[in-house]
Amino acid sequence: MKMLTSVMEQVIKRNPNEPEFHQAVKEVLESLEVVAQKNPQWVKEGIFDRIVEPERQIIFRVPWVDDNGDVQVNRGFRVQFNSSIGPYKGGLRFHPSVNVGIIKFLGFEQIFKNSLTGLPLGGGKGGSDFDPKGKSDGEIMRFCQSFMSELYRHIGESTDVPAGDIGVGGREIGYMYGMYRKIRNEFTGILTGKGLTWGGSLVRTEATGYGVCYFMDEAMKSIKGKSFDGATVVVSGSGNVAIYATEKVHQLGGKVVALSDSSGYIHDAEGIKLDTVKKIKEIERKRISEYVKYHPNATYTEGCNGIWSIKCDVALPCATQNELNGEAAKMLVDNGCYGVGEGANMPSTPEAVEIFIKNGVVFGPGKAANAGGVATSGLEMCQNSMRYSWSFEEVDAKLKDIMVNIYKSASEAAKEYGQENNLVIGANVAGFLKVATAMSAQGV
Ligand code: GLU
Repeated sequence: MKMLTSVMEQVIKRNPNEPEFHQAVKEVLESLEVVAQKNPQWVKEGIFDRIVEPERQIIFRVPWVDDNGDVQVNRGFRVQFNSSIGPYKGGLRFHPSVNVGIIKFLGFEQIFKNSLTGLPLGGGKGGSDFDPKGKSDGEIMRFCQSFMSELYRHIGESTDVPAGDIGVGGREIGYMYGMYRKIRNEFTGILTGKGLTWGGSLVRTEATGYGVCYFMDEAMKSIKGKSFDGATVVVSGSGNVAIYATEKVHQLGGKVVALSDSSGYIHDAEGIKLDTVKKIKEIERKRISEYVKYHPNATYTEGCNGIWSIKCDVALPCATQNELNGEAAKMLVDNGCYGVGEGANMPSTPEAVEIFIKNGVVFGPGKAANAGGVATSGLEMCQNSMRYSWSFEEVDAKLKDIMVNIYKSASEAAKEYGQENNLVIGANVAGFLKVATAMSAQGV
């Protein structure tokens, strides 16, 4: 009889219509079954029942006025999931698909991810169903200001420190920080991903993408004796994570041949020219299909799943949840892909993960492989507390160190629990142990 079945049943009963949250919890509880068997006192103390229930969930109205003078109303969320090892920490996502279940799945994952970084960071997540696509700069600013005019009362440098995620980058963080400063009359590190002249950290922009590559490089070397050098790589997405993963793959001697957005994907067999992508996405904020206008040898294909049919050695899904299904995983394996690193949060479906593990693909799950972003946010908080800043080289070296250590913790935990090289189980167990120990010590 499994010890954690009742925990999962309760999650489903208490949180109906939240499939992504159920999916994230199920994967973690399955990994933790062995931990529960070994530590029955934690079952008795209700650690598993408590860890799946957010400490606090905030849902609020975000009214704003569009360029036509019409009033728009969106819904804002902040889920403060677990603060047993540090202040709540996690990004804000602005995307029409956002609902409480999506934010809860992301917040739940963040608990384990943040624990794995080795830094004192609790888990949280937030966002809104606001769609930034096609909005003017003024509309984005008014939305962000309205969002912060409610969020400010729930956050603080020692309470909860949000950051970016899909749809929230430097521009949005700037507008939100400005509003916080006006309301509170204080200059403190209450958000990360800030601009470099007002408390931001060098490498934060690059950190998630670079971190995925540092993690995968270490994992592929240790498990298979392979690296990015000479590898052909497919990266999905074309946001911040995808762009800087591509940059690092190129620095490490690999070649990225494809990128995508929610409409379709580009394939450039000669290697993606990153300057063009940065111009299209970071400056012009246009669609990835524009790329073929500059590089006619490249192709653009409508639809997203086809990107996984491109032959590659390593795949880095950096777009969004459940973007890579069982069928796509099979195509990758059949084409000889030996490494998959999740730059996005939960981009592989459970069927896809099973196929990768069964076929001996080096699989870096998001909560380990993409932890570089939040880790560097932790370093930003550290610099803010000191009122000091480190050089690019210093932060980059710390980031690399953290990613290598995450791999080692996950790998050692997997081995200890009899699942060598299964980094899904390893990451879940290693992330959990630290949080569970803290929760146990602090009482019910
Ligand atoms: N949104 C990122 C993540 O999924 C970064 C969070 C942060 O920096 O707080 O981990």
